Amino acid sequence: MEKSDYRKWAARAADWGADYLDGLADQPVRPAIAPGDVAAMLPESPPEAPEEMEAIFADFERIVPGAMTHWQHPRFFAYFPANASPASMVAEHLATSMAAQCMLWETSPAATEMEQVMIDWLRQAVGLPEGYRGTLQDSATTATLCAVLVMRERALDWAGLQDGMSGAPRLRIYASAQTHSSVDKAIRLSGIGQNNLVKVPIRKDYGMDPAALKDLIDADRAAGHLPAGIVMCTGGTSIGAMDPIAEVMDVAEAEGLYTHIDAAWAGAAMICPEYRHYWDGAGRADSIVFNPHKWLGAQFECTAHFLKDPASLIRTVGLRPEYLRTLGEDEIVNFNEWSVSLGRRFRALKVWFLMRAYGLEGLRARIRDHVAWTHMAADAVAEDPVLEIVTPPMLGLFSFAHTGGDHATLGMLEAINRDGRIYLTQTLHQGRSAIRMSVGQFDTTEEDISLAIAVIREFASKI
Ligand code: PLP
Repeated sequence: MEKSDYRKWAARAADWGADYLDGLADQPVRPAIAPGDVAAMLPESPPEAPEEMEAIFADFERIVPGAMTHWQHPRFFAYFPANASPASMVAEHLATSMAAQCMLWETSPAATEMEQVMIDWLRQAVGLPEGYRGTLQDSATTATLCAVLVMRERALDWAGLQDGMSGAPRLRIYASAQTHSSVDKAIRLSGIGQNNLVKVPIRKDYGMDPAALKDLIDADRAAGHLPAGIVMCTGGTSIGAMDPIAEVMDVAEAEGLYTHIDAAWAGAAMICPEYRHYWDGAGRADSIVFNPHKWLGAQFECTAHFLKDPASLIRTVGLRPEYLRTLGEDEIVNFNEWSVSLGRRFRALKVWFLMRAYGLEGLRARIRDHVAWTHMAADAVAEDPVLEIVTPPMLGLFSFAHTGGDHATLGMLEAINRDGRIYLTQTLHQGRSAIRMSVGQFDTTEEDISLAIAVIREFASKI
């Protein structure tokens, strides 16, 4: 393909995308394919000679869309949403055309400065106090890894970066078992070690028990260990657990521990003032992550990482070799020093387009509908004689099970997903299998919820 053909193919791709989105509601959410089906359709070796774009595009249409799980489908109720609002898709097209590598201010002045402003727009949108700065990371996993690395280095007085962990005291990090597995991953990758992630017991409302946290810290200190930080969740992945942030912060501040909040999914709902009670006290945390690429509508990937003191992150993950110096401008923000990877995409553009195209009011209206419809669906499930609620609605998520036990629950789930009209996923809650229903896709309507309820009840009665 010649550069001069870019206009034609980019236009064709945009047309294809619009048709794809228009037709989604008529497709099964999850494709009816088996592992290996797609690989079997691809040649085993790369072509030696150039191929025509017509042929490549035709193969794309033949092989790919029918073998994709459709995340933008209005009846996608699995995992958490990964909304890509059309405005953010357009921004991604533009960013792709510029194809800039946004590692330094000098390599991407507009991207760097827009990122600083967008972080502040997002801070205001979710009601955090002034004083936070931050960056757009690629994922919540990366942001949490960064926070855990800061916990490690702060506790070791920044000796770990040079000396590694050998000979260091045993560091301890605290989180409840409701936090996402990205916390476990961060503990492993940071060299702190899984056995030093202390899983704090939860209360009846599934939030971390601050009294138990305090006891565990005391016991660790008495044993000669070195408490380093606490990870809290606002909206855990399994059932949407909410830690009591203010109470945990009281313990953290008294103990001098670094704090990180994982609000990857639920953070988006904090644009609605009426839900902010879920993270009362969040404005006291050192580090907070939320994913605009989940519920808010910024195309994947786009993770807001707010920081009270960016200097400690830069000191931990930043490196400035001679070839990355921007002469005479060393004090300028170079976002590669705020993240694990050096290279970075222009992520701020889609946040700018998203927030302008829908306004906070437009975004709030969607989230409020989703929360209301979650209650509607949970109420309907609760009324069914063979179904029961396992965990009640937490914003846009609740879980339920078949009264016939785990086998019936998982059998029903698989039958529903094979049917294709809706798509749900499962979790294990207190030793019991449960089906999660996560309402949050941008194009979902009340009719889609009614259809989902009908499908769930249809399959429940067949088990
Ligand atoms: N934290 C929570 C609460 C999540 O639900 C998820 C993913 O669903 C993550 C972290 C990981 O997000 P990412 O894919 O951005 O790393």
